[in-house]
Amino acid sequence: MPFLAAFGPGLDRPLPAVGGAGGRRFPSLPMPPLDWNATVERETAHLYARIKAVVPAVEWPFFAPYVKAINELKAARGAVILAHNYQTPEIYNCVADFVGDSLQLAREAAKTRAAVIVQCGVHFMAETAKILNPDKTVLIPDRRAGCSLAQAISADDVRLLRERFPGVPVVTYVNTSAEVKAESDICCTSSNALQVVESLGSDKVIFLPDEYLARYVASQTDVKIIAWKGHCEVHERFTADELRGYRESDPAIQIIAHPECPPDVLAEADFTGSTAHMIDWVRARKPRRVVMVTECSMADNVQAELPEVQFVRPCNLCPHMKRITLPKILDSLVHMQEEVVVDPAIAAKARRAVERMIHLKS
Ligand code: SF4
Repeated sequence: MPFLAAFGPGLDRPLPAVGGAGGRRFPSLPMPPLDWNATVERETAHLYARIKAVVPAVEWPFFAPYVKAINELKAARGAVILAHNYQTPEIYNCVADFVGDSLQLAREAAKTRAAVIVQCGVHFMAETAKILNPDKTVLIPDRRAGCSLAQAISADDVRLLRERFPGVPVVTYVNTSAEVKAESDICCTSSNALQVVESLGSDKVIFLPDEYLARYVASQTDVKIIAWKGHCEVHERFTADELRGYRESDPAIQIIAHPECPPDVLAEADFTGSTAHMIDWVRARKPRRVVMVTECSMADNVQAELPEVQFVRPCNLCPHMKRITLPKILDSLVHMQEEVVVDPAIAAKARRAVERMIHLKS
C-alpha cells in the first residue's frame, strides 16, 4: 500500500469561525401560523406518504405545519434547499429541493439559478455553496454546525506541508474550511477521491485531512499518499468487532461502509463507498438485510424509499448535522439568517480548487 505517512498537530483546534452576519439586508417576514388542522393535514398528506415508513403518525402533527410553512416561504424567498444525505427524513424528504452527498450538493450549488440557497448540512457545505455562488445569498440554519474533519486542519498547516514536500500537489477533501481549500490544488469528495488523486499525473500526493479516507485511497492506487491525522468523529466510532457481531448474528447480512471508517472496519465490509454510492448500491441490490456503516439518519432516508429492505441501524448520529431542524430552517427563511460570508480573495482561490474537481470528467 503506497501510504507514506500521516501528519497532524493534534485535534484540539477550536471550531473555525462559521461565517457571520453581513452582506445584503433582507426584511424579516411574519412568522407563519404553525397550527395543526384539517387544511394542513390535507395539504401535506402527499409528503407524509413519503416518510410514513420511518416517521410515526403521532409525530407528523408537529412536523407538518413547519413543512407547509417552509415550502411556502421557500417559494416567496426564491430559495432552494440543499440537504445532505445525513439530514433527518422530514427535512430530506419533505422540504429539500436537492439531496445528495457533498459532491452532488456542490454540483447543484454550482447549477442553481435560485437567488437564495439554504444549506441543510454543515458549515463547510454552506461555505462551498457560497464559494461557487459569490453573488447569491447562502444561508445555514445553525451557524454552529461544524465538522471534526474541517476542524482538524488550518491553512497554516497546509502551507507547512507544502514547504516540507515542495512540488507535491495538495488534494483536500471538501470537508475543510474555505481557507484550507484556497491553499489546495484541487478538492475531492469521498465519491471521487481516487479519480482526483489519479487525475494529477503525480507519483506522490498530499491528501488532507482525513487519514482513513487517505488510507482507503492509498489501498486503491499506486500513487504515494502523504496524509493528515484528521478523523470524522462519527465514523471513527465504528469498530470491526461490532461488524463481526452483526455478521455472526446473521451470516447473510450485507455490510456497507463509508471510507471515513478506520481500515479494520472497512476490512469487514462487503462494499465501501461514499454516501451516494452506498445508496446506489442498496437501490440496485435491494438486500434483505443491510447495515449502513455511516451516519444513522441515512438509513432512515433510504428506508423511506425502500420499505422492503431491512436496515440494521448502529445509531451513530453526527451532532453537527443534527443541529439543523425544521424550526431552524423556518427561522432561517423568515429572518434570512445565518448568512454565510467568505472573504472574496479566499473564495476566488478556493473556487479554483472546487471547480477543478467539479469539472473533472466522471
Ligand atoms: S459525519 Fe463526520 S465528516 Fe460528516 S459532518 Fe459529521 S463530523 Fe463531519
